[in-house]
Amino acid sequence: MRLERPLPPNSVIGILGGGQLGRMLALAAARLGLKCHIFAPEPESPAFQIAAAHTCAAYPDEKALAAFAAAVDVVTYEFENVPAETAALLGRLKPLAPGAEALATSQDRLAEKTFLSKIGLTTAPFAAVDDKEGLEKTVARIGRPAILKTRRFGYDGKGQVTLKADTALDKAWTAIGAKPAILEGFVAFEKEVSVIAARGWDGAIAVYDVPENRHADHILRESIVPAAIAAETQAAARDIAARITTALDYVGVIGVELFLARENGQERLIVNEIAPRVHNSGHWTMDACLVSQFEQHIRAVAGWPLGSPDRHSDVVMTNLLGGEADNWRNLAGEPHTGIHLYGKAESRPGRKMGHVNRLTPRQD
Ligand code: AMP
Repeated sequence: MRLERPLPPNSVIGILGGGQLGRMLALAAARLGLKCHIFAPEPESPAFQIAAAHTCAAYPDEKALAAFAAAVDVVTYEFENVPAETAALLGRLKPLAPGAEALATSQDRLAEKTFLSKIGLTTAPFAAVDDKEGLEKTVARIGRPAILKTRRFGYDGKGQVTLKADTALDKAWTAIGAKPAILEGFVAFEKEVSVIAARGWDGAIAVYDVPENRHADHILRESIVPAAIAAETQAAARDIAARITTALDYVGVIGVELFLARENGQERLIVNEIAPRVHNSGHWTMDACLVSQFEQHIRAVAGWPLGSPDRHSDVVMTNLLGGEADNWRNLAGEPHTGIHLYGKAESRPGRKMGHVNRLTPRQD
């Protein structure tokens, strides 16, 4: 179902998922006079605290889903593992953005990489692996080092193993849970970057500047904007985002994770994965742009004109993991720093508790 007309203020946006992304979406919607109704199974969901309404129920709960659909004007989500049946049920009752195709494509690494290469984008070499024997054959073809990843439910490095020269294949297969998988050739990248883009119901596209993303233990630590990359590479990243969103008839904000490699001295972009939602590497937009990725997503799904993605400052976004957020008093006192805390009840090592955006005057 498509959105018939732009949603006026006081309309209700339904969001599946109640984590920090849902919370920041609801905050952005509130600024535009739009309300959010959050649907999530965890009673302590950070987004419940600030949304106009919430439903605490399991995603397969059809009765709760029907009541939720009746209470909202459009449905979106803040995580990509929304069960297909949940999305299909809601999509029959209300406009769903991004649509079911975007969801299905990004839930399965094999479908995702197949889609990306079909539309002419470069990915790591890849092949499906269904069992231990298949793994041996595929490693012989793709070579080592390589990365074995589960097709579904992997995030922040979970469900993946690097196959080095001496890694035993049967152990690697067990380590990922002996599940349908994909084997990817190892990309010797120089940097990891991403592109955050939005597409409206009318096909309009807005793309933010490219951040360089630094990870530790597979978790994003910092996004640095602008990334130190050639102007042509920025343009190529924008083109990649436009091609993906157009091919999926996408509505909303998308995060595309890219590797930057160097070939004969030239920068080259290789697409790693797509996230059909607002993305951690876009959190810098909250303080360095007039319209953040969260407001942009709300605008897109509500049928509003997209806002300007222009960046007014240089910025470094740093995630506050676990106990790092306990330093909130010092961080809040730093000049030119935007602090965002997610209101999570419990701190655990590595858990994303908040982030800061440190601004400096724009240099380029
Ligand atoms: P992913 O879960 O696909 O986002 O991968 C998590 C991290 O593993 C990435 O951010 C990279 O640092 C690394 N990685 C994933 N795939 C590859 C690859 N094909 N080659 C090299 N490094 C990779």
